[in-house]
Amino acid sequence: MADLTDEQLDRYGRQILLPRIGVAGQERLLSSRVLLVGAGGLGAPAALYLVGAGVGELTIADADAVAVSNLHRQVIHTVSRGGWNKAESAAASLYELNPEVRVNPRPARLEGEALGEAVAGADLVVDASDNFATRYAVNGACLRARVPLVTGAVIRMEGQVTVFPFDHEPLPACYRCLYREAPDATETERCSVTGVLGPAAGLIGTAMAAEAVKRLAGIDEGLAGRLLLMDALNMDFCTIGLARDPECPACSAFRPASTAP
Ligand SMILES: [Zn+2]
Repeated sequence: MADLTDEQLDRYGRQILLPRIGVAGQERLLSSRVLLVGAGGLGAPAALYLVGAGVGELTIADADAVAVSNLHRQVIHTVSRGGWNKAESAAASLYELNPEVRVNPRPARLEGEALGEAVAGADLVVDASDNFATRYAVNGACLRARVPLVTGAVIRMEGQVTVFPFDHEPLPACYRCLYREAPDATETERCSVTGVLGPAAGLIGTAMAAEAVKRLAGIDEGLAGRLLLMDALNMDFCTIGLARDPECPACSAFRPASTAP
């Protein structure tokens, strides 16, 4: 691997100083490829910190357009880019932050083969989408490709985040072990209906970036096997253990019979 340049040592010096990252961790970050699904309230802070940290390549998929009514939490976008595709708008901000990172905007909702290819080409996926259909699809694609998945969600003043290290054996619990079926309509209301506290999205999106950056730098400690729950009203944080569902429709097919629970 090429030695870090003086400019890189300067730009990333404050995180290279961390003993758990160091030059080796920074080099791993610089050679890493990340797929970010969604450039909204969670994807905005996640993208900013991933690119600030110096991932090698960030592909951002989002089919939606920048709207002023979302800027209270989607802080990577700007008023002047209202109506732009969100992946393209995020790429414009990220270039200003760190032009060294290759940012690939994909102005589309990735599905099927396109999603599978994008996931297989990544070292880690950050799912910052806002609906169960996309989360199930991303979870399945990550399982098939054995790519670690950081996932989060936020609504009103509540949020949650975890990481599924699908590149590790034995295969951990997956998103579908956690939510076998999508909750009913009252539970899947969108932010446009129920509202959302901007900084609550920021807290969860930032936690997602922290989990991703650590993993890409070679640090395994974190939320693997646990779900972090946040209540931003009382500012309470707690974690609960994640258990594999032996009949999970997503991951049970990938488990050898000998290791099935
Ligand atoms: Zn599962």
